[in-house]
Amino acid sequence: MVKPNRMTQISQLAEFGLFDARVPRYTSYPTAPHFSADVGPSDFAQWVRAIKPYSQISLYLHVPFCRRLCWFCACRTQGTSSDAPLRAYAKTLLAEIDLLRAILPQGVTLSRLHWGGGTPTLMPAAMITELGQAIFALAPLAKGGEFSVEIDPNEIDAARLRALTDLGMNRASIGVQDFDPEVQTAIGRSQPFYLTRQVGDMIRDAGIFALNVDILFGLPHQTEARMAESVMQLISLSPSRVALYGYAHVPWMSRRQQMIPTAALPTPQERLHLFELASDLLGEAGYQAVGIDHFALSEDNMAKAAKTGQLRRNFQGYTDDTADVLLGLGASSISRLPQGFAQNASRTADYAAAIENKRFSVQRGHRFSPEDHLRGAMIEQLMCEFRIDRARIAQRLGYHPAALDELLNTSFAAFQSVVTLDAEGLKVPPEARPLTRLIAQSLDGYNRAAAQHSAAV
Ligand code: SF4
Repeated sequence: MVKPNRMTQISQLAEFGLFDARVPRYTSYPTAPHFSADVGPSDFAQWVRAIKPYSQISLYLHVPFCRRLCWFCACRTQGTSSDAPLRAYAKTLLAEIDLLRAILPQGVTLSRLHWGGGTPTLMPAAMITELGQAIFALAPLAKGGEFSVEIDPNEIDAARLRALTDLGMNRASIGVQDFDPEVQTAIGRSQPFYLTRQVGDMIRDAGIFALNVDILFGLPHQTEARMAESVMQLISLSPSRVALYGYAHVPWMSRRQQMIPTAALPTPQERLHLFELASDLLGEAGYQAVGIDHFALSEDNMAKAAKTGQLRRNFQGYTDDTADVLLGLGASSISRLPQGFAQNASRTADYAAAIENKRFSVQRGHRFSPEDHLRGAMIEQLMCEFRIDRARIAQRLGYHPAALDELLNTSFAAFQSVVTLDAEGLKVPPEARPLTRLIAQSLDGYNRAAAQHSAAV
């Protein structure tokens, strides 16, 4: 039976529209749909030239290819049965690295290098080595830096793993979704538990103990019993970090999702229960909640960053990386620099055509205004710490604390029955945390097409 105070909490969350709302995940501010064609290749080149010599930056490499396309996945990626498109793509990446080499100020090192996709481990071992060496010739990994790679258990073998570890990969990330066979069938993704376990063991045997695992709630046919079973199996893999994402059903944006049986999807209230169940199990197993959807063991750097106020939001969700420059390589990659965002062409053919013509493929982006900096810093802190600390943000941006008043008051007015506002700033208590994305939205200064986003829970 649901306890009375729990019922009050649920009806309060419902009052704010949690179960109907569609809101951004605020991995950036402004969010990517707001980017425009105002930012192009020459702006990007100018911003890169302005990077401080000898500073630390982050680099993201995107590989938009998969062996087969899973129905639930809204990632921009292409299916390929041969390595030919990968070879052509790797050649373009090498040429893009050359373009960067010509303008990147000297002495720059990488605090983070992340390879994602798609399926980066689709690349054969020799290609992995060639790309990795080219990246580190452009900018070596800084001391204490992190090189992480998304590893698909269906697409990895000893040679590819060896190529990655020889390059210095020191964190691996595995996507799980759910281990239940019926759920896997309904989302068009087969990945048995034994295989995931085998790959987890392989990664550890290779000396890599920093392991991230992602799991989804809100998938078709997911019940509390199945969710509990999957989370317990996941915990048995002993990951150091877990991301617990809500499945975003957006078939109008991702046509593959039309294969998902909509009638078998949990209701928004059931989604909240699934999330809370998984969070409780992770908490009982010793994982600390980090932000709205991450969990980490206390010795993991992300848990430490959350404790010390160093946690940041990035396109992967959360990060403990404090570099203020992130360069994106590959089709559709987004770079973030102090001046703004720059996104490469999304279509691989357009991306390749630009690079072949010896120019960056940036097609859209956003130039930050002082107001973007203020709203973005407030949203980021809210998403990371469930509060907005007036003095810290004002100090970081060089403003008087009163500069935050108007926005804080607006947010407070909209959520005053569930949040608090005092001299320090705005705080979201634990029972109102499911509303965090909605509260963040109250600070968003851009018009939003609500239907484009995923469910708020
Ligand atoms: S889940 Fe992974 S393998 Fe499946 S389509 Fe998405 S990126 Fe590709």
